[in-house]
Amino acid sequence: MTEWSLIYTGYDPENERLREAMCALGNGRFASRGAGEETKAGPHHYPGTYIAGCYNRLETEIAGRVIENEDLVNTPNWLSMTFRFGDGDWFDLQAVSVLSYRQELDLKQGVLKREIRFEDPKGRLTAVKTRRLISMADAFVAAQEVTLTPENWSGTVTFLSALDGRVINEGVDRYKALDGRHLRPVATGGSGDLMHLTVETTQAGMRIALAARSRLSSDGETRDCVAQLIEKPGYVAHEITTDMVEGVPVSLEKLVALNTSRDNGISECGLAARQGAERLTSFDAIREPHAEAWRYLWDQFDITIEDNASVGLVRAQLILRLHIFHLLQTASPNTVDLDVSVPARGLTGEAYRGHVFWDELFIFPILNLRMPELTRSLLMYRYRRLGEARAAAAAIGARGAMYPWQSGSDGREETQVIHLNPKSGHWLPDNSHLQRHVNAAVAYNIWQYFQVSNDKEFLAFYGAEMLFEIARFWASIADYDSDADRYEIRGVMGPDEYHDGYPDADRPGLDNNAYTNLMAAWILKHALEMEQILPVDQFRKLRGKLGVTDEELAHWNEVSRKLKVSFHDGGIISQFDQYDDLEEFDWEGYTEKYGDIQRLDRILEAENDTPNRYKASKQADVLMLFYLFSADQLGDLFERLGYDFDHDMIRRNIDYYDRRTSHGSTLSRIVHSWVIARADRAASWKLFAMALESDIGDIQGGTSAEGIHLGAMAGTVDLVQRCFTGITMRDDALYLDPCLPHSIRRLTVPIRYRGHAIELDITHDRLRVHALRCNGDTVTVRVVGRSHALRSGETVEFTLPVEQLAAAAQ
Ligand code: BGC
Repeated sequence: MTEWSLIYTGYDPENERLREAMCALGNGRFASRGAGEETKAGPHHYPGTYIAGCYNRLETEIAGRVIENEDLVNTPNWLSMTFRFGDGDWFDLQAVSVLSYRQELDLKQGVLKREIRFEDPKGRLTAVKTRRLISMADAFVAAQEVTLTPENWSGTVTFLSALDGRVINEGVDRYKALDGRHLRPVATGGSGDLMHLTVETTQAGMRIALAARSRLSSDGETRDCVAQLIEKPGYVAHEITTDMVEGVPVSLEKLVALNTSRDNGISECGLAARQGAERLTSFDAIREPHAEAWRYLWDQFDITIEDNASVGLVRAQLILRLHIFHLLQTASPNTVDLDVSVPARGLTGEAYRGHVFWDELFIFPILNLRMPELTRSLLMYRYRRLGEARAAAAAIGARGAMYPWQSGSDGREETQVIHLNPKSGHWLPDNSHLQRHVNAAVAYNIWQYFQVSNDKEFLAFYGAEMLFEIARFWASIADYDSDADRYEIRGVMGPDEYHDGYPDADRPGLDNNAYTNLMAAWILKHALEMEQILPVDQFRKLRGKLGVTDEELAHWNEVSRKLKVSFHDGGIISQFDQYDDLEEFDWEGYTEKYGDIQRLDRILEAENDTPNRYKASKQADVLMLFYLFSADQLGDLFERLGYDFDHDMIRRNIDYYDRRTSHGSTLSRIVHSWVIARADRAASWKLFAMALESDIGDIQGGTSAEGIHLGAMAGTVDLVQRCFTGITMRDDALYLDPCLPHSIRRLTVPIRYRGHAIELDITHDRLRVHALRCNGDTVTVRVVGRSHALRSGETVEFTLPVEQLAAAAQ
């Protein structure tokens, strides 16, 4: 095992779809699953290609009602390339005897390679090598190469290299009942070594154009060839026949340009793609700047963990890099100019239909501290959809903005109204849109971006407007209970998706979800702080634009001090009102009966029961508070609300909810690992190690094949980046309070903070902070009670307290 390559050996049809998701390549603008060139969509393979922001709506009749669905579209398959010898059959891995098979995802260079040796039924031995990339340096370019070496024969080979736009969305079995035909053919053509294809999405009308050059070579020398053009509606291919001599390799390169009608700086996308492809000369000429672009990204994003060379840590290092790799393939410098955010499954599959969730909360911290301009651009996705969020709030009789639980093209609510329980086969009402806390995530992300960047222009032009409208929303849905002198937020869902209502209630939703209410209080408080932060004219302008009166500000202040939080068992924060009345769940009995009970909701529903009846959570809910806020910040928040809060409550709440959580969401273990990282390092490390395995080990049994879980991937990296280093950003200072797990001897993390590139080098007994030379102002760094004004080019070392040393030695 290396720390820079994900390697699979042996062809394993049952796990190929998982490998395809793990080996997907992308550049922040488009991505393709790591399916073999010769494969077609079927039970074992799914060669999907997805373009950031390419959504399309379709209607389907299901269970007696018409369902409108917006999907991230599976766009033309540019990977398609196969071959045959003489007039034999087209290559099919399953029809030959595979002698060896090795697949390598080179994370450092962003190249996917395969090496196969096989014997066909005629006894011919052939070696196949493939390479592929999606250029990080040129957002519109991809390339692949297939090299064949006949080991014991000579003859002819015919390559078939295609751009196939006849694909549909069929990557997720659960969605098979939904119409998936999103593309219609527009044009095909070609001449010489160039072919091209244009298709269009059926409803959104986005045109997608691809053009590809075919280049044949042998032993490094270009070989002249005649490419025969094959055209069908939505499909174009080159058929190229050439001689093969025993022992001499022959390669076919496919050099691809992809444009869409939404691209900036073009005349027409078909023309742009053809011109783009004509300028491509060879795989290696594309690979060099691509590898260079990755080198720069790794300089900025890598994390290194060291110990005394335990195999476990080599794997952890590799997986962390894989996670960073996938994050950058979803959001990279190529994304900055686009109107998109980060789909929960990246651009690697069709699960969750490519929608954007609150998962941004787990993804943005990495980008914030590495390339904040990326977060800024992703936050603009939300800003552009503020109008839709306002309309959604108005539609439920509220004021301000209500961002959707699932967001796609235009920011309307995309959450399905019914969903299928594959365990019971039932279509069920889906209330998850009641997770209004997504609004809190948007606001929290704006604040965090501001903390790291101090970008007041962004705040003045966009961020504060969103914050105000979100604050306004919370204040408007908070009802006053005069008996208790408290404000209440009713009828919502918290992050824990097992609870969408009270048992046997006639309305969905829960009252006073603690996470939601505390986040709302926090946002209202920060919205009020805009008066101190923004220049006076900009604050006045904002108030004027939104019509925020003095009375309204006074109301926000009051609500921020009087939102209700329920408690039980003396100091346990109730996930929602009457949580304590729920039954305890038989964890042991169910684990014994079902083994894996991560998806308890499906199990219980199939038994005609519901998790709503039990003290059982799918994922961290109350514990999100300890994840997002430091103990001091929470103390302030509770004090503002007039509730007692002592540090001991943290431990007790963690213990309480930890015993009642199934971790049915991959986000959950990250939060649990984080909140116990200091109190119980061994248990925290165990959860972290499991979170690392979420996708590579497909611990949910099948879901990773449908697309990576980007929130969990970014969340694990963030655990190392912010939790192990103890980074928090507040009061215009960068706080560092390292606490390394026992297994890590040394950790190095490069970050950006307020214009400075800072390298953190941490061991158990010291922290070294080095600011690269730049012309920025000094920044305040606070480490265990010491405050230091860090200058450009300076290195400062802090000795870590003895208590931590002692704890580390435990
Ligand atoms: C989780 C949500 C998450 C969604 C998308 C669900 O399983 O419960 O919290 O936002 O997946 O990742």
